Amino acid sequence: MSEKLVLNENFGKHSGKTLKMLISEKRIKARIKELGSQISNNYRDVGSPLIVIGILNGSFIFMSDLVRDINIDLEVDFMRIASYGNATSSSGTVRMIKDINADITNRHVLVVEDIVDTGLSMNFLKNRLEQASTKSLEFAALIMKENTKIDFDMDYVGFEIPDKYVVGYGLDLAQKLRNLKSIYYLE
Ligand code: 5GP
Repeated sequence: MSEKLVLNENFGKHSGKTLKMLISEKRIKARIKELGSQISNNYRDVGSPLIVIGILNGSFIFMSDLVRDINIDLEVDFMRIASYGNATSSSGTVRMIKDINADITNRHVLVVEDIVDTGLSMNFLKNRLEQASTKSLEFAALIMKENTKIDFDMDYVGFEIPDKYVVGYGLDLAQKLRNLKSIYYLE
């Protein structure tokens, strides 16, 4: 994959635009290793397996890499929410499309998001999961945009980036480009 990528006619109003690399595959891998060992150390002595909840669709690649860099007992589950549809800015509302299957009462829970932009999704998830009487509840995101307004601290953040729309490594543009190995911004 070259560093620059020009979008073809499949991308409608975005066609002809260039993708520029923001975070390389190598940097992503190195940072996830650090997050994995931090998380492993924080949960090593808690006495019960951690349950890691991935937020679909965007987190599926981050989640699968992150759990393989965590070396303590864990279980996984997934939740799916939507706020963007096919647009590149938040619709302002969050909908739950799929809830978790696991009973998380009295469990140590780590939520894994791809990217935090307005913080709307994180607030939604926090409100929803706080009702479940978990033993602990923490939040990880691969990327956080610099201007994010969120009224609580994220526990683990991979990268802080400027306010740009990014794609690749699980992040989509109209459901495509999730399979790129690095993270790019739209120019
Ligand atoms: P928020 O609720 O924080 O505004 O947005 C959260 C969700 O919007 C993310 O989980 C992600 O699905 C989507 N999103 C936010 N910013 C971006 C971006 O720059 N690129 C992509 N592909 N999705 C984004």
